[in-house]
Amino acid sequence: MELIRVINVEKQYKNGVTALYNLNLSIKKGEFVFVIGASGSGKSTLIKMMYREEKPTKGQMIIGGIDVARLRNGKVYKLRRKLGVVFQDYKLLPKLNVYENVAFALEVIGMSKDEIRKRVVKVLKLVGLKEKIKSYPDQLSGGEQQRVAIARAIVNDPKLLICDEPTGNLDPVTSLEIMSVLDNINRKLGTTIVMATHDRDIVNKMKKRVLLLDSGQLVKDYMEGTYSYEIA
Ligand code: ADP
Repeated sequence: MELIRVINVEKQYKNGVTALYNLNLSIKKGEFVFVIGASGSGKSTLIKMMYREEKPTKGQMIIGGIDVARLRNGKVYKLRRKLGVVFQDYKLLPKLNVYENVAFALEVIGMSKDEIRKRVVKVLKLVGLKEKIKSYPDQLSGGEQQRVAIARAIVNDPKLLICDEPTGNLDPVTSLEIMSVLDNINRKLGTTIVMATHDRDIVNKMKKRVLLLDSGQLVKDYMEGTYSYEIA
């Protein structure tokens, strides 16, 4: 079953820069896909269109049956409920503890307290952070903060998890731990993962599908790919 279909997508920013040209691709439910390429090649632009932070200027970008190019601003919440996003800088709320940071996303959609507790405890176990449930973000290491951000992103059981350079601020050992958390989520929950990264060690070790962007074009699509050395 297909989860993402990109058809003839072009993205031109208002300043005239074309970030992506005539992009076509398809991602199935349950896949784990890396998006790689040099700085400025269009990775963030592609990822941002998937959660409708940016809109394509041409073409169709269909995520779980919703064409993000045509989605009205008032309906964006419908798309956002189907997906979770993890960023390089975690974006946790500093005044909330671990439990509250993860529960917050469920409180705003009006879920019952009991159901929230069940779900939050389950995802914190899955990311290996149950003992830190009452800690605040400034009491956690970078790797632990990223685990909280991942727990928050999956607590609503999304079909798609989008990760934009999730290991960008972490050392190599911690980065591999985070990758093992993501791999676990992909395998155990069947969540589709699309991850933009610069980290060639990770890409080489994980042996997943790799999309290589170069100057706004998709130039390679490998299964069990490695980080291409052509792109530095
Ligand atoms: P990457 O994530 O691979 O570094 P980006 O998607 O951020 O690449 O950028 C692709 C191109 O689009 C670059 O030329 C960049 O300067 C340009 N770009 C990105 N965001 C904007 C924006 N908001 N406005 C104008 N140009 C942008």
